[in-house]
Formats: sequence, structure tokens, C-alpha cells
Amino acid sequence: MTAQAAFAQSNKGCSDAPVLKERGQREVFCGLTGIVWLHRKIQDAFFLVVGSRTCAHLIQSAAGVMIFAEPRFATAIMEERDLAGLADANDELDRIVGQLLERRPDIKLLFLVGSCPSEVIKLDLSRSAERLSARHSPAVRVLNYSGSGIETTFTQGEDACLASLVPELALESADSDKSLLVVGALADVVEDQFRRLFDSLGIGPVAFLPPRRSSELPSVGPHTRYLLAQPFLGDTARALEERGAKRLNAPFPLGAEGTTAWLRAAADAWGIDGDRFEAVVEAPRTRARKALEPHRFRLANKRIFFFPDSQLEIPLARFVSSELGMNPLEVGTPYLHREHLGSELAQLRSDIVLSEGQDVEKQLDRCRTSSPDLVVCGLGLANPLEAEGIATKWSIELLFTPIQGYEQAGDLAELFARPLVRRTKLEV
Ligand code: SF4
Repeated sequence: MTAQAAFAQSNKGCSDAPVLKERGQREVFCGLTGIVWLHRKIQDAFFLVVGSRTCAHLIQSAAGVMIFAEPRFATAIMEERDLAGLADANDELDRIVGQLLERRPDIKLLFLVGSCPSEVIKLDLSRSAERLSARHSPAVRVLNYSGSGIETTFTQGEDACLASLVPELALESADSDKSLLVVGALADVVEDQFRRLFDSLGIGPVAFLPPRRSSELPSVGPHTRYLLAQPFLGDTARALEERGAKRLNAPFPLGAEGTTAWLRAAADAWGIDGDRFEAVVEAPRTRARKALEPHRFRLANKRIFFFPDSQLEIPLARFVSSELGMNPLEVGTPYLHREHLGSELAQLRSDIVLSEGQDVEKQLDRCRTSSPDLVVCGLGLANPLEAEGIATKWSIELLFTPIQGYEQAGDLAELFARPLVRRTKLEV
């Protein structure tokens, strides 16, 4: 039995803790934001947002407008006559896609990304994708998903994008061996590190979803075991399970211990013995623990409050409490997927307030009353809280920065330490 499994059995932590469910005004970005990291990951894909000027502004400012090279995202802007139903939006879209693909033969996978305006006028992008795929295949595959801000938070864009890829995965052959699929966009450097660790452990074949190129889409079937690398992939997980894949239950690969337990779940499924596992993970785990030490010294016993934003909140709360000694007060998450987060919840102290959804004014009141040392929240709340003298960390940074795996454990801890260090300097 692993140390973590033993812990989970002896202490149920927050597993059965009551959850404060809230509905009200929310302060979150929409799912279009995921394009920022997804377009860097899938190198022959293009993301065409079908939306308004607001959508174009959001995506360009979030992505930093690095338009020196050819960008791999754009917005097909719906004008007033489209919204008023005076123009045939499908004709316009076909024309724009035709122009784009003619000019950019490097595009092999085109995502039509829905937005609030396209949903409001009920533009059926799945039919558009089918029509355009038939027209442009086999050179280009056209898929669609929604990144709209209606009832979503920003990481759901990645979930919707990956879920749209699942029907495109080939069925594994009947005589294929067991294979491992790592699900969730990871920085290339992190993916390479994990690949080396799985190789050393003798686990494989290993594939990643999303892949770096659309030609590398993995096959899937009943022999596929998958590990979630991100906690916000409920729809993708469901789609994979409908194809026969089985999820390996694990916490998320954050920090020295989270990464070890995540790798251990795969090692157990492949029957790797404890000695071999220890021999492979010992050196990088020691490096990770060492990298955490100076941050632990600075962060231990600091009180931290999480607003619901990225859906990473529960794994992060586990990391900062069990590996850095911090004291989470409230951990808010937009959606609480108990099954996927079971291993993390079991390691959280049972007196933490768990909240799902948001009623921002009420949560701000609770936050002020609990006087945390650090608040993790979206951009919209950070500046007002800083103005009130509360140190903040933008949760979106945790998506833009490579944080998974042993070699990134120190960087992850530093993200929490930096706002407190900065505040100390300001106070001197
Ligand atoms: S999809 Fe909706 S929430 Fe997102 S930028 Fe466009 S209009 Fe705004």
C-alpha cells in the first residue's frame, strides 16, 4: 500500500465534508481563454472563434498579441447584420474558412470555436464543421466546440476542445496491449519529463491528449488506461470512458508528493514493483522536496483563501497545505467533481470551508472576515483586494506556467511565495 493510500484510508479529510453551494454573480473568464495555451500545444491546429469584437479583444489581449509570426487563432467577427439574421452567417463562414485554408496550408486541424454571440443567434457550428470538413478533407479536419461565457469558467474551454477530439481518435486494435493516455494539455517540457519517467518505469506505450500534432492523435479503447493531468476534464473523461478507456484514480501531479502518487497510480496499473519505482523516482523527488524547502519556510502557517476560478483550486489547496504547510481557509471551485478529486479531498483538513459556484459579494465578505495572508483569485478581483491590503495571486497564471511534475515543484511554490515577498518589500 502506498503512503498516500494509507493516509486516505485512515483519514477521510474533506471527502464527506459539506459543500457550500452558491449561485450568483460570478467573476470568471470564458472558455475562449483556453485557446491561449491550446494553440501553442497543438502545432498544426488553428482556432477560429466565431464571435464578436469583444471576443477578439479578449483572446488577443490574453494571448499577448504575438502576431509577428503567423498566429494560429483568429476571430471571424459577427457584424450587426449577422446578429440580426440579415446575412447568411454560414455563407460568410464558409468564405472565411476557404480564404484561411488557402492562405495557410500548414493548418491540418481547424477548430470552429463558438462564443456567446454565436450561441445567442443559434448558429449551429457542429453542422458548419461537418460541412467544412467534407469540403476540405483529407487535407484539413474541421471540428467545433463552445468557448462561450454562458455558464462556464475558462478552463472548460480546454475540456470542450479535448472532448471534441475524442470521436476523432481511432479505435485501438483488438489485440493491442495496455496503453497509457495522459489527458490534459501540458507544457512540452513537462510532457518530455513525464515521458522519460514512464520509460524508465517500463510503462507504455504512452500517448498524450492533446498531441503536439493532429497526425499524432492516439487510438483509444478498452485497453486504454488514462491519467488526468488536469482536474477540469469531466466531459473529456466521460467521452473517453464511452470509448472504453478506464481512468486511473490518482491525485494531480503537483508538487513532490502529488507527482509521486500520480506516477504511482500508473506504476500500480502496470504492476511495477516498489523497489523499481523508488529507484526511478527517488532522485527527482528529492530534488523537488529540496526545491520546496525555502518556500515552505516562508509559507508555512500562512492563511490562504481560494476564489472559484480555474478549477485547480482543490489540488492546489492540497499542495499548499500538505507540501508547504499553508493553512487553507476556504477553497472555492466553480464545479466540484468528487470522483476526479477524491484523492485530493481526502488529504484536505476537514474543517476547511469547501464552496462550489459563486456569489461573489458573499464570498468577498467571507474572505475579508477571515483575513487571509494570500488570496488566489481571478484578475477581476485581484486589484480591488490588493487595494484593500490583501496579497493576491492570479489563478490564471497557474494555467500559463508549467507547474506539473517534479522539476516544476519549486516554481509552483514560488508562485505562492512571490506575492508575499513583494508585499514585504513594499512594506519596508
Ligand atoms: S465568448 Fe462571451 S464571454 Fe467570452 S469574450 Fe465572447 S462575448 Fe465575452
